Amino acid sequence: TAKGTGRNQLCFFSEVREQSPSERQQLIGDLRQALIHQQFRLYYQPIFELATGRVTKAEALLRWEHPQRGLLLPKEFLKLAEETGLIDELEDWVFAEASAQADQWSLDTGRSVQVSVNTSPLQFIHDTRKKPWEIHTNRRKEGASNVVVELAENTLVNGSPYLQERLKSLQDAGLELALDDFGTGCSSLTSLKRFNINYLKVAPAFLQTGARSTEREIFETIIMMAHRLGLKVMAEGVETAEQRDWLKEKKCDFAQGYLFARPLPVQELERFLH
Ligand code: C2E
Ligand code: MG
Ligand code: MG
Ligand code: MG
Repeated sequence: TAKGTGRNQLCFFSEVREQSPSERQQLIGDLRQALIHQQFRLYYQPIFELATGRVTKAEALLRWEHPQRGLLLPKEFLKLAEETGLIDELEDWVFAEASAQADQWSLDTGRSVQVSVNTSPLQFIHDTRKKPWEIHTNRRKEGASNVVVELAENTLVNGSPYLQERLKSLQDAGLELALDDFGTGCSSLTSLKRFNINYLKVAPAFLQTGARSTEREIFETIIMMAHRLGLKVMAEGVETAEQRDWLKEKKCDFAQGYLFARPLPVQELERFLH
């Protein structure tokens, strides 16, 4: 049920199986090889504009085509990539790939298609990292970039001295900002304005219904508040027609989820764009 999966979403990363030390060493070695041998892929999940039903955006989600283990999800290797520092090179690749893909789709369709990428909080906590968005993304004539950067909500609250400067450099490069899994962290209303956030991606938990459901009331309040502040709202993890209809009625701007489509390889996404 929608309720059950809503719960699952909240503990994505706690489901990760414990790895033995030797398994871990093996996987670290494999990770280095994976970058060299180009085993990473971006899958794309279409994002629907609810008022028109059109797809103008897609979220890039990282996959690893492991030669022995098959297709691996982020929860199986992302933490390790962060711990070993390989995340830098990996996210550099993600920006380059997503940006090129957005440009290609925009060219193909004759309209602006944006790709959103997820970023590790590490990109914003340290100033020693290079800024892949300054190298790999393109600003459009109309102003907005081909890439939207998704930040974890708590990235805004950790108080890093480099946060402000790095977010500004993103925006100077013309990129837009989305807060991912909004509602599960503790960002303040002031920070939404201060950091010039463009989109709130509301966590799936707020789509739940039930006898004691305050979730929907919170969701509705988030939509009203966001609109007053000039932000757009995206719902993620939309799995039922009831949820979609409710979101449309409440004037949520965008939606993505299994109801519409799962994350797909490049070619399969293309039919949603036409
Ligand atoms: P996220 O950014 O919140 O992405 C949403 C996750 O929910 C994705 O899982 C997606 O496949 C899944 N999802 C989409 N629609 C539905 C639905 O209707 N129901 C359910 N139950 N799930 C749905 P995925 O692809 O396994 O990614 C997990 C997380 O890994 C992402 O959460 C994101 O935080 C992280 N991630 C993915 N790609 C990257 C990347 O390139 N860089 C970094 N740093 N993190 C990434
Ligand atoms: Mg995301
Ligand atoms: Mg999310
Ligand atoms: Mg999520």
